[in-house]
Amino acid sequence: MTEQQNPTTMEQIISLCRRRGFIFQSSEIYGGLGSCWDYGPLGIEFKNNIKKAWWKANVQMRGDMVGIDCSILMHPQVWISSGHVAGFSDPLVDCKQCKQRFRHDTLQTAVCPDCGGELTEPRQFNLMFKTHVGAVEESASVVYLRPETAQGIFVNFDNVVNSTRKKVPFGIAQIGKSFRNEITRGDFIFRCREFEQMEIEFFVKPGADEEWHEKWLQKRMNFYLDLGVNPAHLHFREHEKAELAHYAKRCVDIEYLFPMGWRELEGIANRADFDLTQHAQGSSKDLSYFDGQERFTPYVIEPSAGVERSFLTFMIDAYREEEVNGEVRTWLKLHPDLVPYKIAVLPLSKKEELNTVAQDIFKRLSKHWACEYDETQSIGRRYRRQDEIGTLYCITVDFDSLQDNAVTIRYRDTMQQIRIPIDKLENVILNKLNGEVFSTFE
Ligand code: ATP
Repeated sequence: MTEQQNPTTMEQIISLCRRRGFIFQSSEIYGGLGSCWDYGPLGIEFKNNIKKAWWKANVQMRGDMVGIDCSILMHPQVWISSGHVAGFSDPLVDCKQCKQRFRHDTLQTAVCPDCGGELTEPRQFNLMFKTHVGAVEESASVVYLRPETAQGIFVNFDNVVNSTRKKVPFGIAQIGKSFRNEITRGDFIFRCREFEQMEIEFFVKPGADEEWHEKWLQKRMNFYLDLGVNPAHLHFREHEKAELAHYAKRCVDIEYLFPMGWRELEGIANRADFDLTQHAQGSSKDLSYFDGQERFTPYVIEPSAGVERSFLTFMIDAYREEEVNGEVRTWLKLHPDLVPYKIAVLPLSKKEELNTVAQDIFKRLSKHWACEYDETQSIGRRYRRQDEIGTLYCITVDFDSLQDNAVTIRYRDTMQQIRIPIDKLENVILNKLNGEVFSTFE
């Protein structure tokens, strides 16, 4: 039996992302900066939609969740209490010959994989970026760029309980930047030095933790399935006892079948009462919780996902190359909630009369949905450009439109085209987005 492989290659995705302005190398004109990336006009729309979908599923649609947005720089004691200063490190080896650095635990050989040179003994390398607050660069002013968003949630546990009157079980969600001085090279945006996390800390009564962990596993898997990811490309991977972090009672990853193999997309851990206990000790503040009958330190279930890895997952999974009339049609079968643009408004020619009608349609529709206006090139090429970025509907304004006040709508998935009255556009698109079948548009 051959090992399962994703039919999409990383080269296809990298090429599309660059060509169409999803992702650029950071500071490219200066030669780039390793494992740092910039998101272009389409990338930012797509990324925002991923975050919106996550927030909607995990905060907006749940009565037992609230959000927070903490600062990236925190009191240095946070990272001592959390264990990051002492233990957030990877074993690093250097090649004595070519001076390349590698993560020891990911090497398959005892010599340099690039040049075959001799390697140094492994030493621990802390992944946190250090900087200084204030004008003096001395040890007392050292702060870290947060390597995860989670700690901001833990140190605000009491503030949130007191200000919202939320009762355990409840959760706090946060989306934000994290920084890790990663040693291994990136696989495009899979591993970055600056990235965004979407994290939940869900606080439960000790004893209810195992059941809640199971619930979150299903909930988080369903998130990717509901947004259209192929079920054959997703699975759970249970962490072995030996691999578990010392504080974790249990940890399960959701893995996606990336082009380079099965890799972690999201981790869902039962962290027991480790974090609140550590911060209570470190700050000398009581972080226990009274539920009306007894006082306890809540246990925590932590679903922790990366925006960049979700971005890659959704894009790889949606990527299609198909032959249509002897030509390759590249298109993204992205979920409607995720597409950068839902609609493209395309006047057939640059003639002013058509532009006036088309601009008016753009103005009306862009109040509700992200739209693109494109008047360049032949209509066939414009359709292909929109297919390539996953745009759901192309609205073409032609010379007949000036007579019949109607336009042609083309649907991405089937390439079916239907003519509809201009004044019905909002209703038609709304119904379609709400799940009506395209053929009932007329
Ligand atoms: P890995 O083993 O791949 O280094 P991790 O187990 O250290 O990942 P966690 O600390 O569990 O990752 O972080 C939670 C999530 O944050 C990951 O599942 C991933 O989606 C994302 N993430 C972590 N590190 C990076 C990174 N360097 N670049 C992009 N996303 C990351």
